[in-house]
Amino acid sequence: MTTIRLHNSKTRRKEEFTPLDPENVRVYLCGPTVYDRAHLGNARNVILFDVLVRLLRHVYGKDQVTYARNFTDVDDKINARAAETGRSIGEITEETIGWYHADMDALGNARPNVEPRATEYIGQMVAMMERLIDLGHAYEAEGHVLFAVESYDAYGALSGRSVDDMIAGARVEVAPYKRNPMDFVMWKPSSDDLPGWDSPWGRGRPGWHIECSAMIEALFGASFDIHGGGNDLMFPHHENEVAQSCCANPGSDFAQVWLHNEMLLVEGKKMSKSLGNFFTVRDLLDQGVPGEVIRYVFLMTHYGKPMDWTEKKRGEAEKTLASWRGILATHGFSADLVAGLKTSGEWRQDAEFLGVLANDMNSPGALARLHVLSKGKTPEMLVPFAAGLEILGLMTDWSRLTDSANGPDPAIAAKVEALLAARASARAAKDWAEADRIRDTLSAAGVQVADVGGQVTWEAGPEFDPAVLEDGS
Ligand code: AMP
Ligand code: ZN
Repeated sequence: MTTIRLHNSKTRRKEEFTPLDPENVRVYLCGPTVYDRAHLGNARNVILFDVLVRLLRHVYGKDQVTYARNFTDVDDKINARAAETGRSIGEITEETIGWYHADMDALGNARPNVEPRATEYIGQMVAMMERLIDLGHAYEAEGHVLFAVESYDAYGALSGRSVDDMIAGARVEVAPYKRNPMDFVMWKPSSDDLPGWDSPWGRGRPGWHIECSAMIEALFGASFDIHGGGNDLMFPHHENEVAQSCCANPGSDFAQVWLHNEMLLVEGKKMSKSLGNFFTVRDLLDQGVPGEVIRYVFLMTHYGKPMDWTEKKRGEAEKTLASWRGILATHGFSADLVAGLKTSGEWRQDAEFLGVLANDMNSPGALARLHVLSKGKTPEMLVPFAAGLEILGLMTDWSRLTDSANGPDPAIAAKVEALLAARASARAAKDWAEADRIRDTLSAAGVQVADVGGQVTWEAGPEFDPAVLEDGS
């Protein structure tokens, strides 16, 4: 069995992953606030978690893993957008959820098993806050419900901060109803023009942190396996989730593993809506960058490192994927072939590929291993290569492999292969003139040929022009 190791933010160490219940592996990712298109940075942990879930399913079984990702559909940013545009909140959130699905699907991400929406869990949030008040971890003040950070000794442990340091560092004006400046809002009053729900504390709406705590408890129980999000969420969002959930369920420890991804940067700064230095996933797709190219670029960098989106990486990803598709198409890979291999039990993963990936989701290492596996000479030898592409979500729909829109047409790939075979025969017959003529044709067509240890591979270079192949044969 593949051993998965993950860097756990909670212990600040890489640890062997052992699920609480291998029959029911539970994974939660903090999802988007739905008022606008996802920017490219937002896709980073969606891709990370999609690969993680594919790996977990490979190890523990398809039906043994539950992946939940929420939609925050009540938030002041949504209210502001509604006020600005004169549109209803429901219309904005529905539209944004539709966009989000389309954009994340286009990047090869499978939908999570459950996508809870905050507004569907208000009852559970209210119940959790009542419990926290009863247990002395929260209090009501002027229609608000606040979490009392001093009631929880471990507050700050996840992000490595102490309450005293936080107070000293805080410059914000403290609301008069707070007992401690670090106490955070779980519930706040709503005026009539804002979304609100009846509660023991009057008509109001939830704060952001209580939403994830209540939804996780409802879906997974008090303790579960892996919780993730960007490292910008570690404080205060995740710290507050831990405080609420552990205090509402005494004796439990909430997420066993916390997985935090580093940021996508633009000129050294976090890509974010508030800084205005963002472009959306849709912008790139509309410019004709295929979803799998975007995905490949993300996988080129380990999730724990900051990364930039560059044109150079995009070009490299495009070239590699085109050549990989060419290799698979040339060797007859298709939806039917793959389905057949799966039924007959011949679909197999490469142990080294899995080992590299399972070592804290080392996706750049996994891609490097795929480069090696792509050199397989026969369809049979290429099975672990194809299976690896599937685990990384780079090939999710095998019927698209043979679409002309995706990389070299199989007929063109076959032509290149035929020329390479002719060149090999010419060399074997010591007909150097003919071998050189074929080499020049391939080169004029922009085909890049590599001879390594007697093994010949090719890829369509940036100047690839298949028409030249026709003239030169
Ligand atoms: P937000 O809509 O800002 O709450 O972010 C949704 C998710 O995207 C969270 O998990 C964030 O941590 C993550 N995120 C936001 N900005 C970036 C970025 N520049 N790079 C990587 N992840 C990000
Ligand atoms: Zn959350």
